[in-house]
Amino acid sequence: MSVRVRIAPSPTGNLHIGTARTAVFNWLFARHHEGTFILRVEDTDLERSKPEYTDNIKSGLSWLGLYWDEGPFFQTERLDFYRQAIQTLLDKGFAYPCYCTSEELETMREIQKANNQAPRYDNRHRNLSSEDIAKFEAQGRKPVIRFKIEDHEQIIWHDLIRGKVSWQGSDLGGDMVIARTPEKDGDRFGQPLYNLAVVVDDIDMNISHVIRGEDHIANTAKQILLYQALGAKVPEFAHTPLILNSEGKKLSKRDGVTSIDDFRKMGFIAPALVNYMTLLGWTSPDTEEIFSLSEAATKFSLERVNKAGAKFDWDKLDWLNSQYLHKLSSEELLPLLIPYWQEAGYQFNLENDHDWLLQLTGLIAPSLTRLTDGVKEAQLFFADGVSLTQEAEEFLTQEGVKEVLKAVITATKSDLASSEANDIIKQITKDLKVKKGLVMRSLRVGLTGELHGPDLIQTWLLLNRKAIDQTRLESTINN
Ligand code: GLU
Repeated sequence: MSVRVRIAPSPTGNLHIGTARTAVFNWLFARHHEGTFILRVEDTDLERSKPEYTDNIKSGLSWLGLYWDEGPFFQTERLDFYRQAIQTLLDKGFAYPCYCTSEELETMREIQKANNQAPRYDNRHRNLSSEDIAKFEAQGRKPVIRFKIEDHEQIIWHDLIRGKVSWQGSDLGGDMVIARTPEKDGDRFGQPLYNLAVVVDDIDMNISHVIRGEDHIANTAKQILLYQALGAKVPEFAHTPLILNSEGKKLSKRDGVTSIDDFRKMGFIAPALVNYMTLLGWTSPDTEEIFSLSEAATKFSLERVNKAGAKFDWDKLDWLNSQYLHKLSSEELLPLLIPYWQEAGYQFNLENDHDWLLQLTGLIAPSLTRLTDGVKEAQLFFADGVSLTQEAEEFLTQEGVKEVLKAVITATKSDLASSEANDIIKQITKDLKVKKGLVMRSLRVGLTGELHGPDLIQTWLLLNRKAIDQTRLESTINN
């Protein structure tokens, strides 16, 4: 059997971390089995679906490296297929028009509530006579179409992650609506609804495995009934665990992140994030934790996906991100840092300053966990002047510090070489009869306003290339 899987996002928001993780598992499963990964945009909710969300979903999947083999297919372009299926279900007696008004449904629910019963449709219009129908039509009522769900029916499937899952028909809320009321006079029914559209698409697209979040389990039970009614083969199902926050609740807006864009803006890079998402619920058979998507694909199986919710671990994501960042060359890292520097308002010329920017990148690279750290780490190289920390200010009052700085100003020149910088430090140590440590610390405070930071000689040389070392030292002395 050839494997065909799909990711079926609804474009009612930006690409969500949960959807992206489901996409990762589908992609890995497809690649492992040399199958096909399909993108289907479920845009039938016309009020909430927006083209910019579709764009965001497509660019988010591509950014993560989750390229699709077929699609994107749009449900709004496939409405005729759903209409045909609804007609078939009506013709075969699996579905029927229901003329209940919203007031009637509301009263039904209130009575159920008063009797401590779960809300459900009581299937009251299942067997309407043609007289009943004529009467409702004459009253101007417009029907929805409901699909019959027998209370006694037991729906059982072998979930590839959760094992045997079984649902009782009576727990599915009564006969389900598969089409809204008609929009135009003369139409038998209106807009097809989610469960019906998904099943029609999965049949048409020959989907072999439906891999999706566990919040869809109840839908799966209903959908299996639809497959059977439509005489189609039921695919395999695998329901992936939810992503939880540190309190064990579903990761949500309140945790500060939901969309893949949020993670990108926070300075995570795609290979690290996608690696982390792979680990959200799956463990590699060799317990390896750092791998590319294609490496993971060779080892991926649904058997190794956990049933339990996957806790989102920020420390682990940070750790992975730093591992990936530290492996990059300056040439690879610089273009990733540039947008963050530009956003911070740092002034530089991409062409003229290219070598200087590369050196700066090399200098700060070991201190980066997220790309956003590059803003703080590079700040002193773009700042107008030196702003002293409190400990640096105190240090400056120590005996000999300002003398050292004056001596550096006298000795320095433009286009300083690393050996010359070291010689100047040695010479001042000798001339002023002070310890080398004092010279180094004074120089660091003079140039950066801080007592700690990246390699001092490199820092000095970078500032020297921009001819801002002397003015910085002077302004520190005059502070
Ligand atoms: N459109 C659904 C969602 O975004 C997915 C449906 C499915 O995967 O079957 O949750």
